[in-house]
Amino acid sequence: MSLLDLARPELRSMRPYTPGAYEPGCVRLNANESPWRTPGDNTERGLNVYPPPRPFQLTERLSEYYGIEQRQILVTRGSSEAIDVLIRGFCGAGRDGILICPPTFDMYRLYAGIQGADVRRVPLLTEQDFALDTAKVLGAVDETTKLIFICSPNNPTGQSVPRDDVETICREVAGRALVVIDEAYHEFADAPHFLDLRNRYEHVVLLRTLSKFVSLAGVRCGLLIGAPELIEFSQNVLPPYTFPTPSIELVMQALSKDSLRVSHERVAVLKRERNRLADALRDLPQILKVYPSDANFILVKTANGGRFRETARRAGVLVRTFDDLLLTNCVRITVGRPEDNDRLLQAVSGAGASTERAADA
Ligand code: PMP
Repeated sequence: MSLLDLARPELRSMRPYTPGAYEPGCVRLNANESPWRTPGDNTERGLNVYPPPRPFQLTERLSEYYGIEQRQILVTRGSSEAIDVLIRGFCGAGRDGILICPPTFDMYRLYAGIQGADVRRVPLLTEQDFALDTAKVLGAVDETTKLIFICSPNNPTGQSVPRDDVETICREVAGRALVVIDEAYHEFADAPHFLDLRNRYEHVVLLRTLSKFVSLAGVRCGLLIGAPELIEFSQNVLPPYTFPTPSIELVMQALSKDSLRVSHERVAVLKRERNRLADALRDLPQILKVYPSDANFILVKTANGGRFRETARRAGVLVRTFDDLLLTNCVRITVGRPEDNDRLLQAVSGAGASTERAADA
């Protein structure tokens, strides 16, 4: 059985778009572009011409950086687009669906909703620090389930999913559904990533992003990492020319040796700050629990989430609360620069916070 037997059959037979050829040294009169650069265009390629249909040079560099073959990588506009492409490619509207384990990244639900795909939910175990309910996940998979999303480290809870749990799911659903492991935050984790599972199981897909650890959220660069036949199929679901020239050039710069050294140093700073912030928060009376985190944020359970958020906001710091019942009174705090974290800590342990304590008592 081919992995693509799980994909939407109507897309498998769809003829891909043929982009106009681009050859260095040739005048390009085949793509209805402007022959002149716009004033101020200082990109290397020129913004008057379309970007390459796929960012080949960037894929080559990312392949080298991650140690993954080029034919296993599709570069997308943020890993958000990779989520969208997978759902569009595998879930027929009103027919197929995805499985998620909330509380988790909300865009899985959103893209499935846009596509008209069903969303099956197997909640994390709130009483066990949001652990994955592996047996229930396996029990909930049926012939309509095309994609199982596992986010590790999970947003917004922060923990990595234990390898045994991920591996059990990969083993048990082989041939039945794709397992999509979203590793958006793995650079902040001490636990190893799941590339080995990708190499061992053809139905395992990884998502990575350059939004976090190389500080490029504004550039929108993500990676879908999967079996070569999945990448080839996904390229046809994604229109050509989607990845913009400035983004290509900025990511290439960020992947230079010097720039990567700075990024890695900053990840180390954020990991140290994460521990310092967690320790300080744990000492506050209005904090009922600090969940362990492998990401660049910390989830805390507070006596009153809305009040905690407002106390922080009065000091000019924004933190995130959620509507989700599974996250009542929980607050997600992104780890900032040391001075940002100090500002938050000062706000929630200072004068504003004493009123908060009094009010909660
Ligand atoms: N996955 C997870 C778990 C996330 O938290 C995010 C962004 N917050 C993304 C994917 C998408 O990131 P991007 O599109 O910026 O790559």
